[in-house]
Amino acid sequence: MDFPRILSGNWDKPNSHTLAVARSCGTYSRVEMALKKAPSELIQIVKDSGLRGRGGAGFPTGMKWSFVPGPEKRGNKPVYLLCNADESEPGTFKDRYCMWKDPHLMIEGMIIAAHAIGCKVGYVYIRGEFRYIYDRLWEAVHEARAAGLLGENILGTGVDFQLHIHLGAGAYICGEETALISSLEGEKGQPKLKPPFPAVEGAWHCPTIVNNVETLAAVPWIIQNGAAAYKALGTEKSPGTKLFSCSGHIRKPGVYEIPLGYPMKDLLEIECGGLLPGRKLKAVIPGGSSVPVMTPEEVYKCTMDYESISTVAGSYLGSGGFIVMDDTTDLVDALTNLLRFYAHESCGQCTPCREGCGWMYHILCRVRDNCATAEDLVTLKDLADNIHSKTICFFGASAAMPVQSFLLKFKGEFLARIEAASKGIPAGSSVTSPEQRVGA
Ligand code: SF4
Repeated sequence: MDFPRILSGNWDKPNSHTLAVARSCGTYSRVEMALKKAPSELIQIVKDSGLRGRGGAGFPTGMKWSFVPGPEKRGNKPVYLLCNADESEPGTFKDRYCMWKDPHLMIEGMIIAAHAIGCKVGYVYIRGEFRYIYDRLWEAVHEARAAGLLGENILGTGVDFQLHIHLGAGAYICGEETALISSLEGEKGQPKLKPPFPAVEGAWHCPTIVNNVETLAAVPWIIQNGAAAYKALGTEKSPGTKLFSCSGHIRKPGVYEIPLGYPMKDLLEIECGGLLPGRKLKAVIPGGSSVPVMTPEEVYKCTMDYESISTVAGSYLGSGGFIVMDDTTDLVDALTNLLRFYAHESCGQCTPCREGCGWMYHILCRVRDNCATAEDLVTLKDLADNIHSKTICFFGASAAMPVQSFLLKFKGEFLARIEAASKGIPAGSSVTSPEQRVGA
């Protein structure tokens, strides 16, 4: 389909990652435009555009920028801009494409965002497994510095912005903004209670804005075309375009940019090429592994925006990881696999999350291995309900929601597995402790 490709328009051009190609496509032309504007004007444009954070939470970007205290309140404290490039939600792989295919677009967005919030030093925090992208980002930073687009007195405007790339060590939880900040500071990558929010007290106790890669890459287009043009795409409450990383049982897995509000059915059948031959749709996870699963009936009613997915299916757009499961999928295995991940990645600070994720995984292993009873499903749901919203960060809810939604919408499949086992189907592998399984 023919959509404006705000984020992915240059991806197919040869050497799209180089400064020469980026500039030939108009990248950095918006820097001069933005640096001539007052920071408050830039914040207002982004507020008016309705751009929402693309990392998962969907918080309005311009509003977040406006939370940074002005010089009269923060005194001589610097302001930091952090680009969250720690993409690691299972099923989500769009930020790595942004950085690999068009790193200069994200850097351009960071220069504009930095000017808007009064920041002179920024960091890209990129996950350890993306070493190959880390090298490419540094190349892009060096090119931009040599061209006078980063560093002191950018393009002779008197504006300074230094950009550094920081490689993480590969922990899922470092994608949570307070954990990311701790890790950047050289501390353990563990989340902190909020408030204070990073915009007021973040890196090194200074005001800090953390924005996702895709969010920052959308900013130059908004500055060039105006808030109204961006709002004209998508829906009233979910404006603009969004990248979706589509995987699973589809003919054309990949990253697709579509306007928000696009029918989910069309994303599945047109962009993704539909299901594999002879298969039927069983379930979809619409926004990365942590969001509630959807039934086929919900998929055919939904549009791809924050409101529709929430209203129709009680789920979330999340980070845009669109995972399709057809009728060959064993949902017990699928959920067990997901919980193995969460049990492994819990940072361990909160008892409900640290202990609960391991036990949810343990119970699911019992179901998978034909050793469970129906009572185990009651315990499983109880555990999930007692983890959700009772932890320092959203990770606990992220682990609980798949369990709660699979049991709500597909409980029959879990019960059938238990019933078949009770009728003499040989049990699977023996059950071991959660620690043994997580470490397996
Ligand atoms: Fe750590 Fe889990 Fe608590 Fe988040 S919810 S702080 S990941 S233990």
